[in-house]
Amino acid sequence: MSWIFQEFGEINHYNPKIHQGTQPVRVIHHMLTYMFINTHKNFFADLQKQIADKKLNSELNLAFGEEPIKVHNNKYRTPRVNHETKQIELHETFLSFLWCSVYSIYVRYIETIDYPRVNKESGKVVKVISQENIEKAKEVFDYAKYLIVDFLPWDKAKLPNPEIYRAEKRDYVEQTNLFYTEAVKFILCHEFTHLKKHVEQINEETTESHYLNFEAEADNDAIDMMKKAISYSEHPLAVAHRLAIETGIVFGFVSMFFFSSTTEGVRHPNMEDRLTNALERLNLADDHFAWGIACVGLQMWDEQFGHNFIWTEKIISYKEQYYDIIQQIKNPKN
Ligand SMILES: [Zn+2]
Repeated sequence: MSWIFQEFGEINHYNPKIHQGTQPVRVIHHMLTYMFINTHKNFFADLQKQIADKKLNSELNLAFGEEPIKVHNNKYRTPRVNHETKQIELHETFLSFLWCSVYSIYVRYIETIDYPRVNKESGKVVKVISQENIEKAKEVFDYAKYLIVDFLPWDKAKLPNPEIYRAEKRDYVEQTNLFYTEAVKFILCHEFTHLKKHVEQINEETTESHYLNFEAEADNDAIDMMKKAISYSEHPLAVAHRLAIETGIVFGFVSMFFFSSTTEGVRHPNMEDRLTNALERLNLADDHFAWGIACVGLQMWDEQFGHNFIWTEKIISYKEQYYDIIQQIKNPKN
C-alpha cells in the first residue's frame, strides 16, 4: 500500500489478479459491491433477506465490452435490473462515462468557482488556478460524451484516469473516486429498490403513472438509505464522509442530463425534478457545495446542447442560481 504516501512519480493501481475489465475504472470495480453492501449499518441484513426471498440475485452483473453506451435510438447500456435473473446490470463503459463526468464537473467547479472565491476572500492568490487542469477537464468531458455514441479506448497517457496517474496530480483523481463510488452506490440502491418493491408488481396492466411512482420511490428510498450512513458530527472525517455521500448523489443525477437535450421522461419523472428532489431531500445547507456542482453540471449541459440559458453574473448563492436555471428549463424561450 506504498502508494498512499507516495508524493512523486507514477501511481499504477492495475493488478491483473484482482481487476477485471479493460477500462481504467476497472481498478475501482471491486470497491463498488463492498461499498454497496455497507450502505448503512443495517443494510446487509436487508440485502440478505431480499436474496433469501428470491427478489435479488446475489451476483452483480458487471458487463464488459469495448462498446458505446448507446445500442440504438431508444436503448442504452445504462444501469438496469433484469426482471428474469433479478440481477442488477452495470456496463463498464457506463462506469467510465460516469467517472469522467464526475471528474470534469468537479475540476471545473474547483478551478473556476471555488479557487477564485477563496482568492477573492483572501485578497491574494492562495490557490493557483491551472488552465491546464481546466483544459484537461474539458477533454475528459468530451471523452465522456463520446462514449455515449461510440467507443474509443481511454488514453491513459493523456487523460486523467483512475488507473495510472502522477502522484503530483493525485488529488483530483482520488477526490473523483470518492464521489464516483457514492454515485454508483446511489445507482445500486435505486436498482435494489426496484427489485425489492417493484419488479413483482409489473405486469401488462402497469401504466405509465405506475412506472413514474416506482421511479420516484426508487430515488427516494435510495437517498434515504444513503442518508442513514451520514453522521452530522463536526469531526473532519465525518464531514468529509457526509460531503462525499451528499455530493456523490447529486453527481449521479447531474450526469444523466448529458444523454439528452431534453429532460422529459416517459417512465421517469423529468430530470430536473429528480435532481431538485434529491437536492431538497438531502436537506442541504444553503451554501453546500452540491448547489454549485449542480449549477456547473447544468452549465455544461447548456453548452453541450446550446440551450442559451441566462447565467446572471452577480449571484447571491448557487442555490438561487440553481432555481433560476430550473425555471428556465421549465419555461424555455423558444
Ligand atoms: Zn429506475
